Amino acid sequence: MLVNCKRCGKLMLQNPSSCCENCSLYYDETYREIRRFLSAHPQVNAYEVHRETGIPLSVVLELMRSS
Ligand SMILES: [Zn+2]
Repeated sequence: MLVNCKRCGKLMLQNPSSCCENCSLYYDETYREIRRFLSAHPQVNAYEVHRETGIPLSVVLELMRSS
């Protein structure tokens, strides 16, 4: 079944992550970056992670929620 990637909107085959291959890679790398940042700065909130790393706030919130 074809669906649109939830991040970039590209048409793709449905998969459990709901994102295309490119976006899955992006999320993997971004997730690692956020984990690294949080382990160095455990007290920060999502907005501070966004401000310090430049990762879009919506992505930070989504990845912090699922961690
Ligand atoms: Zn995508």
